[in-house]
Amino acid sequence: MAEGETMGVKTGYLTMLKLRDEKGRFVKGHPGYGGSLDSLARILNEAQSRKIRCVTCGKLITGSKAYRGRKYCSIKCRDADPEYIRKRNESANATAKKLAIKPNLVMDVDLAYVLGVLFGDGSVSKQAHIRLECHESSENFADSFFKALQNIGLNPSKKLRFIKSNWNKNGGSMMWSVVATSKRFEEWFRELSYDKLENMLSTNELMSAFIRGFYESEGSYTMYCRKNKAGWSTPQYKICIRNTDLQLTHLVYSLISKLGFHPTLYEEHGKKRGYSYILYTIQLRRKQEVIKFLEYIKPSIKNKPSNRDKYVGGE
Ligand SMILES: [Zn+2]
Repeated sequence: MAEGETMGVKTGYLTMLKLRDEKGRFVKGHPGYGGSLDSLARILNEAQSRKIRCVTCGKLITGSKAYRGRKYCSIKCRDADPEYIRKRNESANATAKKLAIKPNLVMDVDLAYVLGVLFGDGSVSKQAHIRLECHESSENFADSFFKALQNIGLNPSKKLRFIKSNWNKNGGSMMWSVVATSKRFEEWFRELSYDKLENMLSTNELMSAFIRGFYESEGSYTMYCRKNKAGWSTPQYKICIRNTDLQLTHLVYSLISKLGFHPTLYEEHGKKRGYSYILYTIQLRRKQEVIKFLEYIKPSIKNKPSNRDKYVGGE
């Protein structure tokens, strides 16, 4: 079988079909597909033998439109179907309603946490989508963000989706996607400067909630031992929070310091995929501080050391 082909069908074509197998996995058609070739063949057969007639004119739909389960032979036929127009209006109304949602924008623990996530892995788009995509294994994080969005009066949804990799054409993974929509929130968020934000985070509780969201996005917790002639060293504990934005790093550093911790700050220079970058890293390295930090911040993920089995011979 040539690369880029599966059972004589072009890979791109399969990807376009967005077919799923019996376990709900996407059929991607490339050698990385997790299912057996038998189940792939069955799915393809089923898709190829579909006979669909146009809902409006009754003409037989063939080719790629049939593969994709299209209900209309042409856009003209689609727009002539009153049911389609009704559904389209309904969804336009729903979108308008979502955009009009006015959340609570007076600083509280939930808003501070939401902002911590949005300055980390989350994002706010021009279309006013407030979004977090995190790995399948981080469902606690998705749930925690979902709840905070609800608590500030937004209307989030949470779905497990296949998200394509930006770097690898055939790559990607199953991710939790949490999305809420609000024009009011988007406008407020655009106007928010780091100075304003720091003033708003006026109590330990608010600072801690912001750091929780940011740590869950950009942080890591590791524990390791070094081996030398004398045997294993005592375990080293480390919290790292990495970011490419210097001003934001200063803000987070200052918040962590205000809470009574003693972080260190340094730059990491590197090169990846042809681009050079600087990572600003905030670290906590004293064992007592690391443990105190986790007890105080109470992160929903990354609350256990990530590489203990790799480096440590028993705890
Ligand atoms: Zn038609």
